[in-house]
Amino acid sequence: MCKNPYDAIIIGAGVVGCACGRELSKYKLKVGVLEKNTDVSEGISKGNSGVVHAGFYVPYGTLKAKTNVEGSFLIPKLAAELNFPYKKIGKLVISNDKYGLKELKRLKENGDKNGCIGLEIITEKQISHIEPKVKAKYALFSKETGIISPYLFTIALAENALKNGVEFFLNHEVIKIWKDKEFFVQTKKNTFHSRWLINAAGLFSDKISCLAGDKSYKIFPCRGEYLVTDKDNEKIINRMIYPIPPKDGASLGVHITPTTDGNILIGPSAEFIDDYGLENTKQFLDGMKENAFKMVPELKRLSIIRTYSGIRPKLIRTKTKRDFRDFVIEESKTVPKLINIIGIESPGLAAAPAIANLVLNIIGNKENLNKNEQFDAYNPEKPNFQSLSVEEKKELIKKNPDFGEIICRCETITKGELLNAINNPLEIKTMDGIKRRCRAGMGRCQGGFCMPRIIKILRKEYGIKEKEILKNENNSNLFFGKIKE
Ligand SMILES: Cc1cc2nc3c(=O)[nH]c(=O)nc-3n(C[C@H](O)[C@H](O)[C@H](O)COP(=O)(O)OP(=O)(O)OC[C@H]3O[C@@H](n4cnc5c(N)ncnc54)[C@H](O)[C@@H]3O)c2cc1C
Repeated sequence: MCKNPYDAIIIGAGVVGCACGRELSKYKLKVGVLEKNTDVSEGISKGNSGVVHAGFYVPYGTLKAKTNVEGSFLIPKLAAELNFPYKKIGKLVISNDKYGLKELKRLKENGDKNGCIGLEIITEKQISHIEPKVKAKYALFSKETGIISPYLFTIALAENALKNGVEFFLNHEVIKIWKDKEFFVQTKKNTFHSRWLINAAGLFSDKISCLAGDKSYKIFPCRGEYLVTDKDNEKIINRMIYPIPPKDGASLGVHITPTTDGNILIGPSAEFIDDYGLENTKQFLDGMKENAFKMVPELKRLSIIRTYSGIRPKLIRTKTKRDFRDFVIEESKTVPKLINIIGIESPGLAAAPAIANLVLNIIGNKENLNKNEQFDAYNPEKPNFQSLSVEEKKELIKKNPDFGEIICRCETITKGELLNAINNPLEIKTMDGIKRRCRAGMGRCQGGFCMPRIIKILRKEYGIKEKEILKNENNSNLFFGKIKE
């Protein structure tokens, strides 16, 4: 049993839970985050498009619209404070017919009402001027839409929250919750005692709400698959290219999105599933390629180096009755001091900082909050070798020779960057955790070259045995023994 009661326990270390943790750390509150996985950002927050939507898709007057637009304004400021990559590259939603043009005008009007800025309808000539490889008659040009690395954003929020006193308990799956004036939250390892309970459990937020005594919600998982292209020296597109959103409302349609690292994502599909499986299927991958090639034929030139998928936590009536449902961000009507954050599908990444603000307001409306005078808004900048000039590289290597040794050839990641990634404040040493923090293994060879080198470093510098090295979750051991000495 934990001796000291918490002011707030957050269940879930995705982008929403970590944003809430960081926001609450601005006040004198004892906050703990419980996460069932081995790292933060292992749930929905790692498998998405990484788009900071401007906020024109979501219906006016909804929480989705409010938090999306507010979040899109907050993220650039956060990127500067927390040192995660953010690029305002802009987006084109394209169409080739008059029906589509009507839809584009409707989206623009909705966006203007929602408070989006920089929306403009443009025609063929203007499109070919800014995106020569895109063939379309009309487009809604959203200059303010940006991209981030979704996991680096989540990691940055978590590291800053940790720096400001929030405690993280990874490998802590919540299995039981009961209330006796205050909450008792039991994980597989410990029991926590807290005044407030913040349910940020993503796909499982309906189940956590149920465990806490509020049975009002049911999440329907809807998988979205992606293809990732290799980088190309000559950029095929500079902006995000989207179709008119399909009428079923399950997704925004298969789009083409540059990543902050220079790859291009094609996807996602939308498939309601019965489990939470992250499989990729040939049927969907082939269909998505076809759709993307119609919008930008030159994409065919690029190789696909990887596929992945993410799952949307759909809060709809039933799988077949897919009417619009807003985000739920509120104190439960039946369980006081349980703050439910449920149905956070897209644009949840863009909305996360604004969701955290709402959570803080719910608590702040019920009790006096005292500022944490020691709050430090900043995360240190870590050297990114590839982005430096030759002179800067030489200087860095002179100061620290580890930056003169390349570990990951495809992404040009040095030993210095790898050691920074391994020595992360959350002390994560899984292969995926290291990969997300420094990109080693994310290139064309997908770790074929660097993985043995990373393992050697983990063994030598940290005394970790091969058999202990995990890909990501528990029991995902990469090795079971040696085939030769
Ligand atoms: C295909 C796809 C594309 C998307 N594209 C975009 C986009 O471009 N832009 C955008 O803004 N949004 C996008 N989104 C939405 C965005 O990714 C999500 O809204 C956001 O990541 C949700 O974050 P979260 O913290 O609520 O959930 P998660 O990241 O899933 O975090 C919840 C955490 O709770 C943990 N947890 C669950 N149960 C328990 C338990 N019992 N005990 C302890 N821990 C538990 C999980 O392990 C998980 O880590 C997309 C989503 C998908 C699926």
